[in-house]
Order: sequence, then structure tokens, then C-alpha cells
Amino acid sequence: MRCSSGYARMSPSSAPDEKAELRRGLAEADRLVDSARSAGTYSSPPVPLESLAALVNIRKIVRLDIRESGRLVPVGQSFVVELNASEHRYRQRFTLAHEIGHVLLSRSKGRNQVAERYFRCSNDSQLERACDRIAGRLILPPRELRQEVERHGHGLSDLVGVARRFEVSWQAFGFAMSELFDDRILICWRHSDLSGSKRPAYRVAWSASGSGTFIPKGAASGNDPLVEQCVSEWRSLKGEMTLRLGTLRGSYPVELLPVGRARRQSEVLMLVHSGRRN
Ligand SMILES: [Zn+2]
Repeated sequence: MRCSSGYARMSPSSAPDEKAELRRGLAEADRLVDSARSAGTYSSPPVPLESLAALVNIRKIVRLDIRESGRLVPVGQSFVVELNASEHRYRQRFTLAHEIGHVLLSRSKGRNQVAERYFRCSNDSQLERACDRIAGRLILPPRELRQEVERHGHGLSDLVGVARRFEVSWQAFGFAMSELFDDRILICWRHSDLSGSKRPAYRVAWSASGSGTFIPKGAASGNDPLVEQCVSEWRSLKGEMTLRLGTLRGSYPVELLPVGRARRQSEVLMLVHSGRRN
């Protein structure tokens, strides 16, 4: 089985079967994290994924030079997970959690012909989406995420610390946050200055928002001065921004944080306090 895990293919679930399967998988994930709590192997972040993997019969985790993010290899009654050694450590954590998701979904179906489907994922986007959601639940259990956010604060700089404690990517963190708090929207702006333009357009690379809000990927920031200032001065900023992004329309308090700069490409995180529209 070959997987390219991540949130890129996530979209709101629609089919009843898909929803039922996801509910089942998420409940299994909660039970698995509970087992680690009871065994005393998990009390504070980060979630010990290797311990969770052992609980679902993943006997070995190896890091290799492979093209995809990860693979789940059945060996007798147990499994080996192969991870892409060249990917970032947080990405590898997400991929391991995604592979645990495959085991959880297959396990509840039993080892029969139906179960075989759960180990063949390359073209099954429905299954991949479910495994990504389960992975998010495993690496960011809602109970501890809520505790950490309440302890450290809801501002963007506070959330940086919380995300680091869980050892997760911003994208995974943003999606988990959106399930808990629907008045805060996390958006990642990205620009690629490959055209050589002096004023590159910042576009939505991904967004994580609560119920009732939709922000299209690729929407442009309209070269807002606040985003440009954040990048040129390379520091966090707070201010007001007029947004016309999908269902998010109006002037909102925002916090900005530059998070990545590679050759001619910058990334800026933006936290929108959507409950405080002005
Ligand atoms: Zn997969």
C-alpha cells in the first residue's frame, strides 16, 4: 500500500457511507488514545505515536529512501510501516498516524475480502480522506488540545507554542483547531515570486475554518499592505484586514506571523478572529 498522506485532498465529507466509516474510524482513534492514557504512556503532548502503533500490531517502523510519504506492509498478522526518510519529522509523524488509521479501519472490518480494500489506498480518495482525519485525531486529541490552548492562550503566538508541543505541522494544527473553535480561522498565505514581479500576489495555500465558513484555496490577498509588511519586516503583526475570501467578508481583527521563506517563496500564517467582525 502506498500513501501520500496530508490534508491536501481533504474536503467536507458528503456520502453517508463515507461519514459512517469516518465516525467509526474516529471512535477507534479515541479508544486507542484512551488505551495509551490508561497504560500511562500518554499524559501530555506530544502523543507517543510509536506506542500507539505497537498497540495496533505495527511491529516495526523503518525510514527509507522511498518516493511516497509512507507504506503499510502486512507481515503475517502484523504490519511494518515504511516512512519517507527525507520528509520533515512532523510530516513523518502525520504519515505514521495516517497508516495507523488504515489499520484501525481495516481491523473493524475483520480479515476478509472486504478488509483487503483498506490496505489498497492509492486510488481510493475516500479512504485516504478518512485516514487523514483519523491521523489528525491521533496526533491532536481534542481533550489535550483544548487543555493546552486554555492553558497557554488563544493568540497566534500562544498557538505557536501549543503546535510545537504536539510536534505537528501548522496545517494539521489548523484543522484540529477548527473543529474545536469555530470563531478562529487559520489561513496560510503563500506567494511564489517566479515571475519576478515586484509585488507578488499572496494566495491562500490552505485554510482551516469552523462550520459555516468556506475559504477557497488559491484566493488572492489583494496585496494587502499588512501581509507585505509582515514579510518585509519578518515579524508578527496585529491589525485589521478587509477580507473578501469566500464566505469571509468584511473587516476583521487579524494576527500575522511569517513562518517560512525559501527561494522566492514566503509563507505567512494569519489568524482571523472571525467572531469579532467590525
Ligand atoms: Zn493511505
